[in-house]
Amino acid sequence: MKTRLNFILLSCTLAIILLESGRILKAQDVPRITKIQRLASKEIVLDLSATAGLNYRIDVSTNLTDWISLMTVRSTGSIQHTDAAAPNLGSRFYRALPIIGTPLLTGEHLVTTNGEVVIQPLFHATFVMSWNGKVIYNDPASDSAFNSRYQGLPKADLILVSHSHGDHFSSAQIEAVRGPNAVIIVPQLVYNGLTTAQKALAIVLRNGASTNVMGLAVEAVPAYNSNHPKGDGNGYVVTIGGKRLYMAGDTGTTAEMNALKDIDVAFLCVNVPYTMTVSEAVAAVRAFRPQVVYPYHFRNQTGTLSDLDTLKKQVGTDLGIEVRARKWY
Ligand SMILES: [Zn+2]
Repeated sequence: MKTRLNFILLSCTLAIILLESGRILKAQDVPRITKIQRLASKEIVLDLSATAGLNYRIDVSTNLTDWISLMTVRSTGSIQHTDAAAPNLGSRFYRALPIIGTPLLTGEHLVTTNGEVVIQPLFHATFVMSWNGKVIYNDPASDSAFNSRYQGLPKADLILVSHSHGDHFSSAQIEAVRGPNAVIIVPQLVYNGLTTAQKALAIVLRNGASTNVMGLAVEAVPAYNSNHPKGDGNGYVVTIGGKRLYMAGDTGTTAEMNALKDIDVAFLCVNVPYTMTVSEAVAAVRAFRPQVVYPYHFRNQTGTLSDLDTLKKQVGTDLGIEVRARKWY
Protein backbone atom coordinates (compact mmCIF):
# COMPACT_ATOMS: atom_id res chain seq x y z
CA MET A 1 0.00 0.00 0.00
CA LYS A 2 2.81 2.34 0.97
CA THR A 3 4.56 1.67 -2.30
CA ARG A 4 1.43 2.38 -4.21
CA LEU A 5 0.94 5.72 -2.47
CA ASN A 6 4.52 6.67 -3.24
CA PHE A 7 3.94 5.83 -6.84
CA ILE A 8 0.90 8.08 -6.97
CA LEU A 9 2.81 10.93 -5.35
CA LEU A 10 5.66 10.44 -7.78
CA SER A 11 3.22 10.57 -10.67
CA CYS A 12 1.80 13.83 -9.40
CA THR A 13 5.23 15.36 -8.97
CA LEU A 14 6.23 14.31 -12.45
CA ALA A 15 3.05 15.75 -13.87
CA ILE A 16 3.92 19.15 -12.47
CA ILE A 17 7.55 19.06 -13.55
CA LEU A 18 6.62 18.01 -17.05
CA LEU A 19 4.55 21.09 -17.67
CA GLU A 20 6.02 24.13 -19.31
CA SER A 21 9.13 25.34 -17.54
CA GLY A 22 8.41 28.17 -15.14
CA ARG A 23 4.71 27.82 -15.75
CA ILE A 24 2.32 25.35 -14.21
CA LEU A 25 -0.70 24.57 -16.29
CA LYS A 26 -3.89 25.78 -14.66
CA ALA A 27 -7.46 24.66 -15.07
CA GLN A 28 -8.26 27.79 -17.06
CA ASP A 29 -5.57 26.90 -19.61
CA VAL A 30 -7.77 24.09 -20.87
CA PRO A 31 -9.22 25.58 -24.04
CA ARG A 32 -12.94 25.91 -24.61
CA ILE A 33 -14.57 25.78 -28.00
CA THR A 34 -16.87 28.80 -27.87
CA LYS A 35 -18.37 28.56 -31.35
CA ILE A 36 -18.50 26.17 -34.29
CA GLN A 37 -19.95 27.60 -37.43
CA ARG A 38 -20.59 26.08 -40.86
CA LEU A 39 -20.07 28.67 -43.63
CA ALA A 40 -21.97 28.78 -46.92
CA SER A 41 -18.79 27.37 -48.46
CA LYS A 42 -19.24 24.36 -46.08
CA GLU A 43 -15.96 25.23 -44.36
CA ILE A 44 -16.11 25.03 -40.58
CA VAL A 45 -14.94 27.93 -38.44
CA LEU A 46 -13.83 27.05 -34.93
CA ASP A 47 -13.58 29.66 -32.21
CA LEU A 48 -11.81 28.84 -28.98
CA SER A 49 -10.95 30.72 -25.87
CA ALA A 50 -7.49 29.80 -24.59
CA THR A 51 -4.79 31.38 -22.46
CA ALA A 52 -2.89 34.09 -24.34
CA GLY A 53 0.72 33.18 -25.06
CA LEU A 54 0.26 29.42 -24.68
CA ASN A 55 0.57 27.08 -27.65
CA TYR A 56 -2.22 24.68 -28.49
CA ARG A 57 -2.68 21.80 -30.87
CA ILE A 58 -6.00 21.28 -32.60
CA ASP A 59 -6.75 17.72 -33.68
CA VAL A 60 -9.50 16.29 -35.80
CA SER A 61 -11.14 12.87 -35.92
CA THR A 62 -13.95 11.17 -37.79
CA ASN A 63 -14.51 8.45 -35.16
CA LEU A 64 -13.26 9.88 -31.83
CA THR A 65 -10.57 7.17 -31.75
CA ASP A 66 -8.07 8.11 -34.44
CA TRP A 67 -6.97 11.72 -34.17
CA ILE A 68 -4.94 13.68 -36.73
CA SER A 69 -3.14 16.93 -35.90
CA LEU A 70 -4.67 19.83 -37.78
CA MET A 71 -2.47 22.59 -36.50
CA THR A 72 -0.34 24.14 -33.81
CA VAL A 73 -1.36 27.64 -32.85
CA ARG A 74 -0.24 30.28 -30.38
CA SER A 75 -3.20 31.74 -28.54
CA THR A 76 -3.81 35.47 -28.30
CA GLY A 77 -6.57 34.79 -25.75
CA SER A 78 -8.74 33.42 -28.49
CA ILE A 79 -8.05 31.15 -31.44
CA GLN A 80 -9.94 31.03 -34.70
CA HIS A 81 -9.35 28.38 -37.35
CA THR A 82 -11.15 27.76 -40.61
CA ASP A 83 -11.15 24.06 -41.47
CA ALA A 84 -10.93 24.11 -45.26
CA ALA A 85 -11.11 20.31 -45.50
CA ALA A 86 -14.63 20.24 -44.07
CA PRO A 87 -16.51 20.76 -47.38
CA ASN A 88 -15.09 17.48 -48.71
CA LEU A 89 -15.82 15.39 -45.63
CA GLY A 90 -18.65 14.14 -43.48
CA SER A 91 -18.91 14.78 -39.77
CA ARG A 92 -15.73 15.78 -37.93
CA PHE A 93 -14.81 15.98 -34.27
CA TYR A 94 -12.33 18.51 -32.92
CA ARG A 95 -10.27 18.73 -29.79
CA ALA A 96 -7.71 21.26 -28.59
CA LEU A 97 -4.89 20.62 -26.14
CA PRO A 98 -2.26 22.85 -24.58
CA ILE A 99 1.26 21.98 -25.75
CA ILE A 100 4.04 21.38 -23.28
CA GLY A 101 7.15 23.33 -24.20
CA THR A 102 7.64 25.50 -27.24
CA PRO A 103 7.11 24.04 -30.71
CA LEU A 104 9.59 24.93 -33.48
CA LEU A 105 6.81 26.49 -35.53
CA THR A 106 3.10 27.10 -35.47
CA GLY A 107 0.92 26.26 -38.44
CA GLU A 108 -0.99 23.51 -40.18
CA HIS A 109 0.26 19.92 -39.99
CA LEU A 110 0.86 17.46 -42.79
CA VAL A 111 1.15 13.84 -41.70
CA THR A 112 3.84 11.92 -43.62
CA THR A 113 5.16 8.35 -43.37
CA ASN A 114 8.08 9.82 -41.40
CA GLY A 115 6.85 12.47 -38.99
CA GLU A 116 4.73 15.57 -39.42
CA VAL A 117 5.48 18.66 -41.44
CA VAL A 118 4.31 21.96 -39.94
CA ILE A 119 3.71 24.76 -42.43
CA GLN A 120 3.92 28.38 -41.31
CA PRO A 121 3.13 31.09 -43.88
CA LEU A 122 5.14 34.28 -43.30
CA PHE A 123 4.30 36.71 -46.12
CA HIS A 124 3.80 36.90 -49.91
CA ALA A 125 5.90 33.94 -51.19
CA THR A 126 7.85 33.37 -47.99
CA PHE A 127 7.09 30.48 -45.67
CA VAL A 128 8.83 28.12 -43.31
CA MET A 129 8.28 24.44 -42.55
CA SER A 130 9.53 22.11 -39.86
CA TRP A 131 9.96 18.38 -40.19
CA ASN A 132 11.51 16.08 -37.57
CA GLY A 133 13.42 18.98 -36.05
CA LYS A 134 14.66 20.27 -39.42
CA VAL A 135 13.68 23.70 -40.67
CA ILE A 136 13.06 24.58 -44.31
CA TYR A 137 12.63 28.14 -45.61
CA ASN A 138 11.03 28.91 -48.95
CA ASP A 139 12.02 32.20 -50.63
CA PRO A 140 13.20 34.01 -47.48
CA ALA A 141 12.84 37.52 -48.89
CA SER A 142 13.16 40.83 -47.09
CA ASP A 143 10.12 43.08 -46.81
CA SER A 144 10.15 45.89 -44.26
CA ALA A 145 6.39 45.54 -43.77
CA PHE A 146 6.72 41.89 -42.70
CA ASN A 147 10.27 41.24 -41.52
CA SER A 148 9.05 41.23 -37.91
CA ARG A 149 7.44 37.86 -38.72
CA TYR A 150 10.91 36.31 -38.80
CA GLN A 151 11.30 37.12 -35.12
CA GLY A 152 11.87 34.09 -32.92
CA LEU A 153 11.95 31.60 -35.78
CA PRO A 154 14.52 28.80 -35.77
CA LYS A 155 17.47 28.83 -38.19
CA ALA A 156 17.26 27.08 -41.54
CA ASP A 157 18.66 23.65 -42.37
CA LEU A 158 17.45 23.98 -45.95
CA ILE A 159 16.63 27.07 -48.01
CA LEU A 160 14.88 27.01 -51.37
CA VAL A 161 14.95 30.07 -53.61
CA SER A 162 12.78 30.18 -56.73
CA HIS A 163 14.28 33.12 -58.63
CA SER A 164 16.24 36.33 -58.30
CA HIS A 165 13.43 38.92 -57.98
CA GLY A 166 13.48 40.97 -54.80
CA ASP A 167 10.17 39.64 -53.47
CA HIS A 168 11.76 36.14 -53.42
CA PHE A 169 15.47 36.56 -52.95
CA SER A 170 17.60 38.53 -50.53
CA SER A 171 21.15 37.43 -49.84
CA ALA A 172 21.07 39.43 -46.58
CA GLN A 173 17.89 37.68 -45.45
CA ILE A 174 19.37 34.28 -46.30
CA GLU A 175 22.32 35.25 -44.12
CA ALA A 176 19.92 36.15 -41.30
CA VAL A 177 18.02 32.85 -41.37
CA ARG A 178 20.63 30.28 -42.38
CA GLY A 179 22.06 27.81 -39.93
CA PRO A 180 25.84 27.27 -40.18
CA ASN A 181 25.49 24.21 -42.44
CA ALA A 182 22.24 25.02 -44.21
CA VAL A 183 21.89 23.76 -47.76
CA ILE A 184 20.73 26.47 -50.18
CA ILE A 185 19.04 25.29 -53.38
CA VAL A 186 18.92 27.89 -56.13
CA PRO A 187 18.77 28.50 -59.86
CA GLN A 188 21.96 29.88 -61.48
CA LEU A 189 20.89 33.55 -61.43
CA VAL A 190 20.32 33.40 -57.68
CA TYR A 191 23.63 31.61 -57.18
CA ASN A 192 25.33 34.54 -58.90
CA GLY A 193 23.92 36.86 -56.23
CA LEU A 194 25.03 34.83 -53.19
CA THR A 195 28.01 35.69 -50.99
CA THR A 196 31.10 33.48 -51.19
CA ALA A 197 30.15 31.75 -47.93
CA GLN A 198 26.60 31.11 -49.21
CA LYS A 199 27.90 29.80 -52.54
CA ALA A 200 29.87 27.18 -50.64
CA LEU A 201 26.56 25.86 -49.24
CA ALA A 202 24.57 26.12 -52.46
CA ILE A 203 23.34 23.54 -54.92
CA VAL A 204 22.35 24.91 -58.33
CA LEU A 205 19.40 23.15 -59.93
CA ARG A 206 18.46 23.76 -63.53
CA ASN A 207 14.84 23.25 -64.62
CA GLY A 208 14.14 19.52 -64.56
CA ALA A 209 17.14 18.64 -62.36
CA SER A 210 16.81 17.08 -58.91
CA THR A 211 18.82 16.37 -55.80
CA ASN A 212 18.54 14.64 -52.43
CA VAL A 213 19.31 16.45 -49.19
CA MET A 214 18.49 15.65 -45.55
CA GLY A 215 16.45 12.66 -46.65
CA LEU A 216 14.30 14.83 -48.92
CA ALA A 217 14.06 14.75 -52.69
CA VAL A 218 13.97 18.16 -54.39
CA GLU A 219 13.07 18.51 -58.04
CA ALA A 220 13.20 21.80 -59.97
CA VAL A 221 10.14 22.45 -62.11
CA PRO A 222 10.25 25.18 -64.79
CA ALA A 223 8.56 28.42 -63.64
CA TYR A 224 8.02 30.96 -66.39
CA ASN A 225 5.71 33.35 -68.25
CA SER A 226 6.08 36.62 -70.15
CA ASN A 227 7.47 38.31 -67.00
CA HIS A 228 9.80 35.44 -66.10
CA PRO A 229 12.00 34.04 -68.91
CA LYS A 230 12.01 30.25 -69.09
CA GLY A 231 15.10 28.79 -67.44
CA ASP A 232 15.64 31.69 -65.02
CA GLY A 233 13.40 30.42 -62.23
CA ASN A 234 12.46 27.18 -60.50
CA GLY A 235 9.35 25.85 -58.93
CA TYR A 236 10.17 22.93 -56.63
CA VAL A 237 8.59 19.61 -55.82
CA VAL A 238 9.87 18.48 -52.43
CA THR A 239 9.13 14.91 -51.35
CA ILE A 240 8.99 14.49 -47.57
CA GLY A 241 8.09 11.13 -46.04
CA GLY A 242 6.12 10.16 -49.14
CA LYS A 243 4.24 13.48 -49.41
CA ARG A 244 4.87 15.75 -52.35
CA LEU A 245 4.84 19.51 -51.84
CA TYR A 246 4.98 21.89 -54.80
CA MET A 247 6.01 25.51 -54.53
CA ALA A 248 5.21 27.09 -57.86
CA GLY A 249 7.55 30.09 -57.72
CA ASP A 250 6.54 32.86 -60.13
CA THR A 251 4.96 31.30 -63.16
CA GLY A 252 2.07 31.36 -65.55
CA THR A 253 0.13 28.20 -66.27
CA THR A 254 2.54 25.84 -67.96
CA ALA A 255 2.37 22.40 -69.50
CA GLU A 256 4.90 21.24 -66.90
CA MET A 257 2.67 22.38 -64.03
CA ASN A 258 -0.46 20.87 -65.52
CA ALA A 259 1.40 17.57 -65.89
CA LEU A 260 2.38 17.35 -62.19
CA LYS A 261 1.19 14.15 -60.54
CA ASP A 262 0.32 13.21 -56.97
CA ILE A 263 0.87 16.61 -55.36
CA ASP A 264 -0.31 16.62 -51.75
CA VAL A 265 0.20 20.31 -51.03
CA ALA A 266 0.65 23.06 -53.63
CA PHE A 267 1.64 26.69 -53.08
CA LEU A 268 0.32 28.59 -56.06
CA CYS A 269 0.99 32.19 -57.14
CA VAL A 270 -2.09 34.25 -58.05
CA ASN A 271 -1.44 37.89 -58.89
CA VAL A 272 -1.64 40.30 -61.81
CA PRO A 273 0.14 41.21 -63.91
CA TYR A 274 3.11 39.09 -62.79
CA THR A 275 1.86 35.51 -62.45
CA MET A 276 -1.61 33.94 -62.77
CA THR A 277 -5.07 35.44 -62.73
CA VAL A 278 -7.65 33.81 -60.48
CA SER A 279 -9.18 31.92 -63.40
CA GLU A 280 -5.77 30.75 -64.63
CA ALA A 281 -4.95 29.50 -61.15
CA VAL A 282 -8.32 27.72 -60.94
CA ALA A 283 -7.68 26.01 -64.29
CA ALA A 284 -4.22 24.92 -63.14
CA VAL A 285 -5.50 23.55 -59.84
CA ARG A 286 -8.23 21.61 -61.58
CA ALA A 287 -5.68 20.28 -64.07
CA PHE A 288 -3.06 18.91 -61.70
CA ARG A 289 -5.40 18.33 -58.77
CA PRO A 290 -3.35 18.78 -55.62
CA GLN A 291 -4.99 17.50 -52.43
CA VAL A 292 -4.46 20.86 -50.77
CA VAL A 293 -3.67 24.24 -52.29
CA TYR A 294 -2.39 27.34 -50.54
CA PRO A 295 -2.80 30.38 -52.75
CA TYR A 296 0.29 32.52 -52.03
CA HIS A 297 1.93 35.50 -53.69
CA PHE A 298 -1.55 37.00 -54.20
CA ARG A 299 -0.88 40.73 -53.82
CA ASN A 300 -1.37 42.50 -57.15
CA GLN A 301 0.76 45.28 -58.60
CA THR A 302 -1.93 47.77 -57.50
CA GLY A 303 -1.63 46.58 -53.90
CA THR A 304 -5.02 44.85 -53.88
CA LEU A 305 -5.24 41.16 -53.06
CA SER A 306 -6.57 38.52 -55.46
CA ASP A 307 -10.10 37.32 -54.73
CA LEU A 308 -9.57 34.02 -52.96
CA ASP A 309 -13.29 33.53 -52.29
CA THR A 310 -13.89 33.42 -56.02
CA LEU A 311 -10.91 31.13 -56.46
CA LYS A 312 -12.31 28.78 -53.83
CA LYS A 313 -15.77 28.79 -55.40
CA GLN A 314 -14.41 28.13 -58.88
CA VAL A 315 -12.13 25.30 -57.75
CA GLY A 316 -15.35 23.80 -56.38
CA THR A 317 -15.75 20.70 -54.27
CA ASP A 318 -16.29 18.08 -56.99
CA LEU A 319 -12.60 17.12 -57.16
CA GLY A 320 -12.13 17.06 -53.38
CA ILE A 321 -9.44 19.78 -53.47
CA GLU A 322 -8.94 21.72 -50.24
CA VAL A 323 -8.24 25.43 -50.75
CA ARG A 324 -6.57 27.04 -47.75
CA ALA A 325 -6.98 30.80 -47.79
CA ARG A 326 -4.54 31.90 -45.11
CA LYS A 327 -3.07 35.13 -43.83
CA TRP A 328 -0.03 36.04 -45.97
CA TYR A 329 -0.33 39.83 -45.72
ZN1 LIG B 1 7.15 37.43 -57.24
